Amino acid sequence: MKNRRVALVTGGARGIGLAIASHLARDGFDLAICGTRSAETAGDALAALGEHGSKVFYHACDVADRAARAALVEAVRERFGRLHVLVNNAGIAPTERRDLLDASEESFERVLRVNLQGPYFLTQAVARWLIEQRRADRAFRGCVVNISSISASTTSIDRGEYCVAKAGLSMATQLWAARLGEWDIPVYEVRPGIVHTDMTAAVKAKYDRLIAEGLLVQSRWGEPEDVGRAVAMLARGELPYSTGQVLAVDGGLAVQRL
Ligand code: NAP
Repeated sequence: MKNRRVALVTGGARGIGLAIASHLARDGFDLAICGTRSAETAGDALAALGEHGSKVFYHACDVADRAARAALVEAVRERFGRLHVLVNNAGIAPTERRDLLDASEESFERVLRVNLQGPYFLTQAVARWLIEQRRADRAFRGCVVNISSISASTTSIDRGEYCVAKAGLSMATQLWAARLGEWDIPVYEVRPGIVHTDMTAAVKAKYDRLIAEGLLVQSRWGEPEDVGRAVAMLARGELPYSTGQVLAVDGGLAVQRL
């Protein structure tokens, strides 16, 4: 039997990452998943992913940690020997939302390391491997998908570090798209809006109110599945000539209206 394609989804054991992994599993991918939690804690989610017939490999990894990233890529290589798709999904919000005038450098550094430096250098490590596979096989099809946020282009003055990190990830998408173009390895940005997950649980009432007041063109919360479907479409190769592009999954939040 032909080898199945393999996707690495960071933060794939819950929230948006789990929905992405689930859609990739349905599309026939084998999966490498990472997160900071232990494999035992991720167990139920991983078992559910396996129900679609995918091989599911979990490796605990803090994407902010250089050595841990290198060990992750090595572990995936050992487990599967191949990798086609990297989804940089893992991300954090600031521990507390604080006004720009008061927010700390510690929070800035923490958020930038996880949300920007981690995916930037994980992409570097994976990109070398994708190129190697493409050189060995002209039919090889790989891609990278970065999960940014509407915060890449929309200000929130009580979580500036998050906005800066996501704006940086947006530029990283374009940089890696430009760098990997000669191997025809597309790099995409998927830009979610307001999505029901643990990350938004603490601000649910605020977003319920804003949505009721008409913030969105499509007047409902985004669900993790909305993002999962978009990423799966890219991973299947359905937008092959659109490298560097942003795919908004935001219910029309970014649409300007009078
Ligand atoms: P979530 O429910 O809080 O889940 C975060 C995921 O990231 C978890 O799987 C977590 O795994 C993983 N993670 C966190 N820090 C990590 C680290 N240092 N190393 C490795 N994995 C780490 O968040 P979510 O809402 O699903 O968000 C997923 C992505 O979508 C993030 O990049 C977020 O910025 C973005 N996003 C979310 C929304 C939204 O409204 N929810 C909107 C726009 C963009 P562990 O628990 O194992 O650490």
